[in-house]
Amino acid sequence: MGKPTGFKEFDREKVAWRLPVIRINDYDEIYTEPKTEHLQRQGARCMDCGVPFCQSATGCPIDNLIPEWNDLVYNNRWKEAIERLHKTNNFPEFTGRVCPAPCEGSCVLGITNPPVTIKNIENAIVDRAWEEGWIVAEPPEQRTGKKVAVIGSGPAGLTAADQLNKAGHLVTVYERADRIGGLLQYGIPNMKLSKKAVQRRVDKMTEEGVTFKTGVNVGVDVSPKELQSEFDAVLLACGATKPRDLPIPGREAKGVHFAMDFLTSNTKQRVHSDNLGAEFISAEGKDVIVIGGGDTGTDCIGTSLRHGCRSMVNFELLPQPPAERADDNPWPEWPRIFRVDYGHEEAEAKFGKDPREYQILSKEYLVDDEGKLKGIKTVNVEWTKNDEGGWQMAEVEGSEKEWPAQLILLAMGFLGPEQTVAESLGLETDARSNFQAEHGKYATNIDGVFAAGDCRRGQSLVVWAINEGRGAARAIDIFLEGSSNLPAPGQTMGTSMAAV
Ligand SMILES: Cc1cc2nc3c(=O)[nH]c(=O)nc-3n(C[C@H](O)[C@H](O)[C@H](O)COP(=O)(O)OP(=O)(O)OC[C@H]3O[C@@H](n4cnc5c(N)ncnc54)[C@H](O)[C@@H]3O)c2cc1C
Ligand code: SF4
Repeated sequence: MGKPTGFKEFDREKVAWRLPVIRINDYDEIYTEPKTEHLQRQGARCMDCGVPFCQSATGCPIDNLIPEWNDLVYNNRWKEAIERLHKTNNFPEFTGRVCPAPCEGSCVLGITNPPVTIKNIENAIVDRAWEEGWIVAEPPEQRTGKKVAVIGSGPAGLTAADQLNKAGHLVTVYERADRIGGLLQYGIPNMKLSKKAVQRRVDKMTEEGVTFKTGVNVGVDVSPKELQSEFDAVLLACGATKPRDLPIPGREAKGVHFAMDFLTSNTKQRVHSDNLGAEFISAEGKDVIVIGGGDTGTDCIGTSLRHGCRSMVNFELLPQPPAERADDNPWPEWPRIFRVDYGHEEAEAKFGKDPREYQILSKEYLVDDEGKLKGIKTVNVEWTKNDEGGWQMAEVEGSEKEWPAQLILLAMGFLGPEQTVAESLGLETDARSNFQAEHGKYATNIDGVFAAGDCRRGQSLVVWAINEGRGAARAIDIFLEGSSNLPAPGQTMGTSMAAV
């Protein structure tokens, strides 16, 4: 630890976002560039606690070596910091930008003070490494001659491909979309994660020997069985792409869309300048209602504001979370508290009010004579505990309300992976329709076929997709070679702090 008294001397100071009123006029990333001294001060707050919960247990799912790189940043040793960071994380610029940072929720300093700004420091390390030219293509020195097909190019598929290529296998990634990245490409908007940052990694991996095939829908354009016989192993990293619908009366109205259709069309047209014609879903001049919260809901809010929507409301079924941890949510658990994300901040800046309305149940879409959406009917709900301690919901009498809306975006989560590939391979699925494979083993019931990421664990986070991609790569390497030098998540190939 470079500065034993750092946590007493310096307050937590996050890297600022650009001003909401400015940033809603473009699709550039929301972040500002931090000063080196700022980052060093924040790194100095890391107090070398005996057990760094941030990097294990309820903290970072990929066991990033957080105290080590905090210390290296404090001491201005940035090149060593990126080397440490890459030991556990293939893509720190993705997590540094979009991770909700469970590490900060379990930072030991957080028991008494605001936690260390771990995510900001992670992002700054990798951004500097790209700027300095320290991240370069490093193709493997030897090839094993074994071939692996990865279906799906989200963070799970990309991580596994990166690791398997490092181990010398020949990897081909199949992606049905026209661009690589899964939800990093079409899902998370450019203002949160620039598509240039995604492409930069894809280019590096291509230079290192990974083959990417876009526009190939496995199960439609090529049969999964064909891939099984052509390759020595197949990894399914298809994501949880079945959206949850809200099939109340009026669902067929023109103007009700799934969040992913809206976000994908935005990225194609507004970021990549593809011309979608009538397929483009615009929020311009409309009263927009986003149903559902979370990252997807926030991204719909931020995107609608950039289109120039007339008004913005976000419905949540559950009550507003508390400002501070509740008694049944102690440290080092993930704090279930009220947060203001970038989209909420922007809506407040534009319309003078946080867009979220809590405890609202949607009852009916209102449709005009031409079949176009004109609003939605709702009722308020109350949540109480029943005798068994479970929550139960009841409608509040007399609270019916009609809201104007010409665009409604459904952001209520996902129901698991599509089943075409599973059915064609005879794959077993679990009770939630996810591909059945044990965490840590990743092997399905079909010999040589593995599954990782959201298609295995259900809708989750980028950092968990990286965890699973790394674990699955190691499992496949062992399947192909009998043993593996690839680290399991949480291992760093036997290196220690003494080595830096
Ligand atoms: C709008 C949105 C915002 C989010 N924001 C965040 C965030 O801020 N932070 C965070 O940590 N997480 C966020 N998440 C969650 C996170 O993006 C996912 O958990 C993560 O991307 C899952 O990775 P994956 O590789 O398993 O699947 P995905 O990223 O879903 O990738 C799966 C890929 O497989 C492809 N595919 C599927 N079937 C086939 C087939 N048959 N043939 C070829 N290709 C196929 C799909 O086209 C897709 O590209 C967000 C999710 C959404 C929807
Ligand atoms: S990946 Fe997420 S949990 Fe891990 S150190 Fe980075 S921000 Fe924290």
